[in-house]
Amino acid sequence: MAWDFETEPEFQEKLDWMERFVADEVEPLGHIGLHPADVKNPRYEKLVRPLQAQVKAQGLWACHLGPELGGQGYGQVKLGLMNEILGRAVFGPSVFGCAAPDTGNAEIIAHFGAPAQKEKYLKPLLNNEIVSSFSMTEPQGGSDPLMFVTAAVEDGDEWVINGEKWFSTNAKWSEFLIVMAVTDPDAPPYQRMSMFIVPTNTPGVEIVRNVSVHGGRDGSEGYMRYTNVRVPKDHILGERGGAFAISQTRLGGGRIHHAMRTVGACKRALDLMCRRAVSRKTRDGVIADKQTVQMHIADSYIELEQFRLFVMKTAWMIDKYKDYRKVRKDIAAIKALMPKVYHDIAARALHIHGALGVSNEMPFAGQVIGALVMGIADGPTEVHKVTVAKQHLRKYRDVADPMFPPYSIPQLKQAAMEKYGDAADIVRELAEAAEAA
Ligand SMILES: Cc1cc2nc3c(=O)[nH]c(=O)nc-3n(C[C@H](O)[C@H](O)[C@H](O)COP(=O)(O)OP(=O)(O)OC[C@H]3O[C@@H](n4cnc5c(N)ncnc54)[C@H](O)[C@@H]3O)c2cc1C
Repeated sequence: MAWDFETEPEFQEKLDWMERFVADEVEPLGHIGLHPADVKNPRYEKLVRPLQAQVKAQGLWACHLGPELGGQGYGQVKLGLMNEILGRAVFGPSVFGCAAPDTGNAEIIAHFGAPAQKEKYLKPLLNNEIVSSFSMTEPQGGSDPLMFVTAAVEDGDEWVINGEKWFSTNAKWSEFLIVMAVTDPDAPPYQRMSMFIVPTNTPGVEIVRNVSVHGGRDGSEGYMRYTNVRVPKDHILGERGGAFAISQTRLGGGRIHHAMRTVGACKRALDLMCRRAVSRKTRDGVIADKQTVQMHIADSYIELEQFRLFVMKTAWMIDKYKDYRKVRKDIAAIKALMPKVYHDIAARALHIHGALGVSNEMPFAGQVIGALVMGIADGPTEVHKVTVAKQHLRKYRDVADPMFPPYSIPQLKQAAMEKYGDAADIVRELAEAAEAA
């Protein structure tokens, strides 16, 4: 019987080290105007690399990976506990070698890449010497990938790519992009597209503009144009026509890791909410004494604990089955739940801080927008809810009864009478006696 919510003492020691290290060394990096993907910046070399060395010395580098790729192979449950800590700091994932979108890109190159691709792109990516971008979404098609039109055609020893993509995160810092393009327009819908590794400095790769999401001026979301971009034949990633299958591998891991870090972000918002509540005075005490404020805190705690348990249970299932497809329903459910929990907790924390809460001197407005972004990026909430419902309905469809409902109360009574005739007589007699009295 294994139904256990405890952390092994040895691993708890590592988590304790992480708590201190992230609070003292990593969180401040988020306030110096450096971007976590700007890995070639001299300040990154000076400030971030020494911290990464400490993480490596602790054996905590790239823990999402198995030992064959330089990670610890800790599995998703331990990763969940670690990501909760990393989710509090903007630089957390970079300092610990597990930043998106590089984690997902590394995962698919590790799974599907040819040996030469692994040598050239995977190794420096895993060492965070370079960063990468995933270029799938197009201006005319995001949620529905069958709307994608960017195409790759064969020409001699090369593929020639033409089209536009946008929201290619970190494109401006990337060494290469993984581009999804239509290679077989007449194939069945989910076998039309292939993936390509495209070095960002290839002629014809253009960043039309860098879009920002939170109102900042210089964004990290690349609006990309590919004009006659030529890559050698061997730059296809995985099988021709295999892009959809590959992207599912990538997105499954990415979504649960995001949810783990969101638990950390929610904990931080709740922590700040409580600190404000016990320190903000009114004429008759502090606002923590007001029942309405207590409701905000209670609701936030309850929602956070529910969400956290759901994330950890799903992490445990991934460790158990070692196959994202078997856990698809719960990964989709977490993805759908995450924006709501994060939004509601951040919005309450904002509210409890009054004017300060909406200002740019506190993180809450950014968190609320961040939660809304989570409801869109990696597919909108509606699409994930449809996945949950479809998966959940499967077992019911398998046993669909043409004479629904088979369990109306008269039918159940009839069955009970047949099964427990004597007992049913007693019940009836008692009911009749009660009626007569
Ligand atoms: C910050 C950020 C980073 C991103 N990073 C990347 C990246 O690195 N690489 C990349 O390729 N993409 C990236 N994306 C793009 C992201 O994957 C898409 O935004 C997402 O798939 C939704 O596509 P869309 O924006 O075209 O919205 P649309 O498809 O236009 O959907 C808009 C709305 O329509 C409704 N809707 C759409 N389809 C359905 C449906 N089937 N059922 C019910 N309602 C529906 C929903 O309300 C949805 O929110 C990023 C996006 C953001 C915001």
